[in-house]
Amino acid sequence: MSHSLTGLSFLGFARGQQGGVTFTGINPATAVPLEPAFHTASFAEVDHAAKLAGKAALILAAQSGKAKALFLRDIALRIETSAPVLAARAQLETALPEARCLGEIGRTVGQLRLFADLVEKGDWVDARIETANPDRKPAPKPDHRSMCRALGPVAVFCASNFPFAYSVAGGDTASALAAGCPVIVVAHPAHPGTAELVAGLIVDAVRSAGLPEGTFSMLVGDGRTIGQHLARAPELRAIGFTGSRSGGRALMDIAAARTQPIPVYAEMSSVNPVVLLEGALTSRGDAIVTGLLGSCTLGVGQFCTQPGLILLTRSPVAEAFATKLAEAFKGAAEGVMLHAGIAKAYQSGLAARIAHKGVQVLARAAHSGQPNRAEPALLAVGAKEFLADPALQGEIFGPCSLVVWCESAAQLREVLVGLEGNLTATLHATDAELAANPDLVAQLATLAGRVVLNGFPTGVEVSHAIVHGGPYPSLSDGRSTSVGSNAIYRFSRLVCFQSFIDSALPLELQASNPLGISRKVDGKTVN
Ligand code: NAP
Repeated sequence: MSHSLTGLSFLGFARGQQGGVTFTGINPATAVPLEPAFHTASFAEVDHAAKLAGKAALILAAQSGKAKALFLRDIALRIETSAPVLAARAQLETALPEARCLGEIGRTVGQLRLFADLVEKGDWVDARIETANPDRKPAPKPDHRSMCRALGPVAVFCASNFPFAYSVAGGDTASALAAGCPVIVVAHPAHPGTAELVAGLIVDAVRSAGLPEGTFSMLVGDGRTIGQHLARAPELRAIGFTGSRSGGRALMDIAAARTQPIPVYAEMSSVNPVVLLEGALTSRGDAIVTGLLGSCTLGVGQFCTQPGLILLTRSPVAEAFATKLAEAFKGAAEGVMLHAGIAKAYQSGLAARIAHKGVQVLARAAHSGQPNRAEPALLAVGAKEFLADPALQGEIFGPCSLVVWCESAAQLREVLVGLEGNLTATLHATDAELAANPDLVAQLATLAGRVVLNGFPTGVEVSHAIVHGGPYPSLSDGRSTSVGSNAIYRFSRLVCFQSFIDSALPLELQASNPLGISRKVDGKTVN
């Protein structure tokens, strides 16, 4: 691996040109700029990357599961081997501690290997065969065979809060490559050096696998210019995005306005409501204080699953709990945020919410006055005021949570019905409370992609069953997940082959099942 950074885009196997607008990474802990300068890609370079991806699409889609698995495992190994260098650069650019960077690299490598195993096994294509019945009356039944196929070139906008696991080689890239789609990454400007190092490793793996150069490109520059230009590229078939609601929404609107509209999988904002019932507070209130504080402030609150909304029904037990939670928030430490923009957005979001009439500050931890720091804060509002102003359910990205005081069980339900879509919803309840409130669980499942019982929403397991995506605005398309093996379906589509001769069918659909995959034949699963 080359440790020296050039600041240039990767256009397949070639590098972008110097010139145009330049910027640098900035150490958020010190606010000091980092070498080298990064050179924003030109529109011509963006177009070139899109054309290369368009050319690579059919070749990549035709790769066997085994070939794709080898490729993904090679990327994983290269990243794993380079972990110390990658973590060192990421620490400088994001202020995330070494252990977090190394842990996230482990997660990234694990995701790549999960997708490698998935495509090697091959069952993910959901092969279905309905055999012909020429004697059927009144009309003969044709032979139908369907399976998932690669969608085509995918643009991936990196997340600032996951410099590895949701950036250049992160979940979107891994799931798109696994499906057989070329990927064009828009590097996040807050960690451009980390992005360049990882991109170099992927390009090396593309070469080594003998895959076409358009399999992977990475563009340097800002999303609002080169990212939006890329979103309009005719070769593109889908977009993956993690970040602000305004950014995700802009890409959704551009994608919908294209001559050929394309899907956008944008993970935007989520306040992850936590409902705390009285029995749970009575039996383990102190443990909930500790767990909730940890979940709210983990990683300086910069997780999409940070619990930003705490729903309490007023009672002496709930009031005593809120007092203890406030004490815990007050004593919590400030932390360095990922970049100056996020730190500024936190402070202005917090100030605006505190200025809101009806909002009360229960606790605000100390702030040292150093740049890019965020102090934990716990605010409170009555349910009536909360219901009257939709702005109060907007995400404040950082270690801030809002307690909503409900005056009755009925008002709690009214608040839940009024909430926007979320990635997660959490319920703390005793078994008896759970049995007595089945409608609460149903309501939480309506508003979120993952419902957590007696736990905390941060810490997203990468697995076959995880769902990381909920109704808008947590995800632009709440039918999908951006974490776990099911994420592959975002970048594939079903194709049905009708009345084909066996030898002309994809191997997955041939009569002898040469790949030995699980298939549904005439309605029955055959392994
Ligand atoms: P961001 O500003 O949305 O940026 C993410 C990526 O999208 C960057 O590459 C950015 O490039 C690009 N982008 C932003 N606006 C765009 C637009 N209108 N058109 C095209 N591309 C656009 O996210 P961030 O820098 O990570 O953090 C900013 C805020 O986003 C946070 O304060 C937080 O509110 C939210 N956020 C939420 C989550 C979550 O999971 N819920 C995660 C991260 C961030 P440029 O900025 O260079 O244009």
